[in-house]
Order: sequence, then C-alpha cells, then structure tokens
Amino acid sequence: MSSTKSPLRILHLYPRDMNIYGDYGNILVLKRRAEWRGYKVEVIDYNPGDNFPKDIDVIVGGGGQDSGQDKVQADLQKISHKLRDLADNGTPMLVICGLYQLFGKYFQTHDKRIIHGIGILDIETIAESERLIGNITIQSQQFGDIVGYENHSGQTFLGKNAKPLGMVIRGVGNNKKDKSEGACSNNVIGSYLHGSLLPKNPHIADWLIEQAATKKYGNFESKNIDDHFTSLAREHAMKRPR
Ligand code: GLN
Repeated sequence: MSSTKSPLRILHLYPRDMNIYGDYGNILVLKRRAEWRGYKVEVIDYNPGDNFPKDIDVIVGGGGQDSGQDKVQADLQKISHKLRDLADNGTPMLVICGLYQLFGKYFQTHDKRIIHGIGILDIETIAESERLIGNITIQSQQFGDIVGYENHSGQTFLGKNAKPLGMVIRGVGNNKKDKSEGACSNNVIGSYLHGSLLPKNPHIADWLIEQAATKKYGNFESKNIDDHFTSLAREHAMKRPR
C-alpha cells in the first residue's frame, strides 16, 4: 500500500520570486492528486541561498517579472548541475513562463541585457515590445488539448533538441512566427501557460506523478479520480474570449 512508502517529494523552485498568475495552483493540484492516490507528499520550498535538498521526485517552478528572474539568476547557475543531473535522470519537471525561459539558454531583456539560463531546454528567448496576453488553447500530441493563460513579452525559439509541448489553436504561444507552444526534453516540460496550468489540465499532473512514482517505487497507483467539475471548468475556459 502506497501510504506506507516514503513520501513523494515535490520541490517548489523559487516560490518567493517566481510565482505569479496563480502558478502556486500547480503545487496544490500535484499534491492533492498524489494524495488521492494514497501517496504521502512533502512540498519543499527552495529559495535563493537555501541548501538544495536531497531525494527530490518532482520539480515545479513558476513565472515572474524580469526583476524576479534577475533575483534568482545567480542561484540558478549555482544549482544548475544538480538540476541537470536530475533532468538527465528522468526526474519530471514543470516550469512556467519566467522559469521556462531560464531553463533555456538565455532571456534577452528589452534593454538587451542577457539573463543567463541553464540550458536544460534547447530554447532562446528575446523580449519584444508587444506583450502577448490572453487565454490560450494548444493541442499536444501527448496530452491532447491544453488550456491556460499567457502573459509574456519574451518570444521563445526552439533549437533542434527541444520539441514543442503543443501547437497553438488560440493565442500566441512561444512566438509570433511558428505557432509552437512550450518545449519538452526528457521528462522536463516548459510552457508559457499560467492559469494555473495543472488545475485546468490535470492529465498533465497525473503524468508528472506517474513518472515520479514509477521512478521512485517501481509502479504507479492509477486510481480513477472524478474529474467532472474539472472538465466543466476546462470547457468553460476554452470558450472564453482571447
Ligand atoms: N519576464 C518574462 C516575460 O515577460 C516572464 C513573464 C512571466 O513569467 N509571466 O517574458
């Protein structure tokens, strides 16, 4: 029985500086859906200067202002080798907007400053004058329709080692040129979708939990969860005007 096992450990990356437009909802949904399946869960906050914890099973990070990205940049470089090892080992990760950009190679701000990323995702981001704001729906081969809300000035371009999370049906996504949204590599997902993402798209939460549980315990308790109200919320969100 999973409740006798050691807890699933979720690392919340930079909750103080990178946590905007409801991104904390991603943590709540991951925790609750794992608990509904009988897993014990620990959420560990990691902020700049903290000791990087051991035995992490899932990593989640959110968006923030450019100033938030400035604040975490040095620390992110410091822990980059640990994050890269975990990513190489198949640890599932979800990073949104500001941290999505910094999991890439760099973010170039409006005043042409470079905020360095850690290159786990093969992407590059450049701030443009127009902010891309509004409801967004994308279609993903792996996850079907995904719905959320975007608000960013950075436009992101994928290199050959990243594949998009999905293609945009409504909204803008990574950039104004190619209709792609987000990027995936190994078990790392980056996306511009706030909203928050996981409450509206719980199948992605379940996938993250499945990867983490299978890696840690060797199997996954795939109990069905009643998603009636979530489905209504998703349908409603998809009908909202841009
Ligand atoms: N500073 C970034 C941008 O505007 C990130 C925004 C965010 O995380 N919402 O592109």
